[in-house]
Amino acid sequence: MTINSRFKRFDYLSWPQAEKVVNAKGATLIWPFGACEQHGPHLPLATDNLFAEHLAAKVLEKLPSSMPIWRLPSQGIGFSPEHASFPGTISISGTLLLQLIMEVGQQLASMGISRLVLFNAHGGQIGLLEAAARQLRMKNPSMAVLPCFLWRGVPSLEDLIPSKELKTDLHAGLAETSLMLSLEPELVGKERPLDGEHQSPASIATPPEGWSLEGPVPCAWLTKDLSSSGVIGDSRGANPRLGQDLEIALVNHWIKLFSSLMGSNWPPTGEKFLSDDTTD
Ligand SMILES: [Zn+2]
Repeated sequence: MTINSRFKRFDYLSWPQAEKVVNAKGATLIWPFGACEQHGPHLPLATDNLFAEHLAAKVLEKLPSSMPIWRLPSQGIGFSPEHASFPGTISISGTLLLQLIMEVGQQLASMGISRLVLFNAHGGQIGLLEAAARQLRMKNPSMAVLPCFLWRGVPSLEDLIPSKELKTDLHAGLAETSLMLSLEPELVGKERPLDGEHQSPASIATPPEGWSLEGPVPCAWLTKDLSSSGVIGDSRGANPRLGQDLEIALVNHWIKLFSSLMGSNWPPTGEKFLSDDTTD
């Protein structure tokens, strides 16, 4: 699979071109976020980063080229303490990632960017990016900050992944292995582990009754609590066909959301804010 890695890259512009872009009405930047962390014995450390980058690029390729939406270079090292016991994992602290987003985000806001989308593919930093987004928006009300997780809120995934897998396939299992087989097959090894909650309960730590690994009452698991291979899920059925279907589902879903964002007046700033203030 090839992507046009140069297409709509903000950092490939010259400064006069960048000046035009940031002054366009509704100028929007997508900032992909991944991680450098173990993804089982068969997937690369950069798995989440490759997903965020490829998907952002593919979505941009399909949106009208006249739309004022551009892509920043991705943040390929993230907050991954849960995988720290596996070699190759490189993680930065939550404080540092938060500060990085604040510093870059404030510069973008003062340049005149209207919207910044944090396009994240690493499940372990969803909450952190949401907090960063809220704090950044607070300091820069004129710039919308939209934190999103690649796999979340994509209704068609339910048609593609069995419901058991949807709940228990947390890391490097069926979905991620299949998607990588579609995007970068030469980076996928031959092993197809089954590990985590799929194993017999005796061999893994089980959350107390009523609590769960993810969901309404999660328990901040560490991978070593659950898995010796690094996989939390079942990668045995992974295949490129499913990977292509997942890719299409994800691309279509995000095209829809980005189109609606670009056609909207979000964020509600300027006159609207002023009139809200006066009526209070
Ligand atoms: Zn992952």
